[in-house]
Amino acid sequence: MTTVFTGNFTQQEPLPQASIDAAMAVLSHGRLHRYNESAGEIAETAGLEVDFAQAMGAKYCLAVASGGYALATALRALGVGPGDKVLTNAFTLAPVPGAIASVGATPVFVGVTEDLVIDLDDLAAKADQADVLMLSHMRGHIVDMDALMGVADAGGLRVIEDCAHTMGAKWKETWSGRFGVIGCYSTQTYKHVNSGEGGLFITDDEAIMAKATMLSGSYMLYEKHRAGADAEAFEDIRLMTPNISGRMDNLRAAILRPQLADLKRQCDRWNERYKILDSGLENTPGLTLIDRPIDEHFVASSHQFLLLDWPDSAIEDVVKRCLARGVEIKWFGAPNPVGFTSRYGSWKYVESTPMPASDRVLRSIMDMRLPLTFSLDDCRLIAEIIKQEVSSVWQSIV
Ligand SMILES: *Cc1c(COP(=O)(O)O)cnc(C)c1O
Repeated sequence: MTTVFTGNFTQQEPLPQASIDAAMAVLSHGRLHRYNESAGEIAETAGLEVDFAQAMGAKYCLAVASGGYALATALRALGVGPGDKVLTNAFTLAPVPGAIASVGATPVFVGVTEDLVIDLDDLAAKADQADVLMLSHMRGHIVDMDALMGVADAGGLRVIEDCAHTMGAKWKETWSGRFGVIGCYSTQTYKHVNSGEGGLFITDDEAIMAKATMLSGSYMLYEKHRAGADAEAFEDIRLMTPNISGRMDNLRAAILRPQLADLKRQCDRWNERYKILDSGLENTPGLTLIDRPIDEHFVASSHQFLLLDWPDSAIEDVVKRCLARGVEIKWFGAPNPVGFTSRYGSWKYVESTPMPASDRVLRSIMDMRLPLTFSLDDCRLIAEIIKQEVSSVWQSIV
């Protein structure tokens, strides 16, 4: 008896009614631009910034056009420019090296461990090459942040956190995004809150916040921000900072605010699904699950496992057999990037030195989305299918 899964791996939930109502209100009054406020009104974008700053315990928050834009703005606000090198993860997605390249800087890739986090020994070895680390919590895997900040501080590195996959996650008691000098988030459809496109930027540093606000295209309207820097912080920079427009609009902010209020519940639902998948895959021969430390309070919206040291053809076989049963697994080791998969060597515009230990891990990564439209039974079935197919291919190669 072979069962087949019929769900859709890219179908997110519909937006909550509160988001739809808030969107309708914005559409009805027509003031979509963030600085277009009627007398006494606080625009949705300014309100979203207050909500998110409060939720994260940050002094300042800036809402922008995308997660990638937030990352590039973070680099510019730290003064990174042409010719500079920026350390970043070998295991990440294209917008991260892309943000670095967009300011004329060069990514220097740091290796990945079997736990799918940044290799701290490699980071320590490369720390003298740059002043900034753009740390990507790729697929929600959070490195020991105390240890990472120790390495960063010792090496004089300022840390920008890419929290596109860790909104609502913590290391010990601290929110992801609150260790570095800046935390950046994406509100794109496949992340933890959905406005189609969008990004959030948080910091406690007033000078950085003022710079980022000017960069994002505030003109001289920065006093309309409610989670922004004081007007005095703009005095020296207001005429010296280029406008690189990338503002968020009130429609997207309106859609996001009810979702943010519900983030904790949604995170719990994602983790319920992840745990079912993870325990369903335990004791599968040849399959390595990712260790999740007790201090890592992660938020899953996807699941990864490794097929370490398998021949390419056997991995391709697993992908094909699972797909035939409706289970879409993405393989990060495929020779050519497919969809959103990629390896550091795929970004041909960057010169990189091969890292054999990381290449072994990257070659083995199997990745799956877990949208909340999947029921818990769906997750049980997906695990069962993967376990069966991995086991039978494994038997054919040992
Ligand atoms: C999605 C994503 C980003 C950028 O977000 P966009 O909003 O799509 O620009 C950055 N880093 C990672 C790891 C991502 O997955």
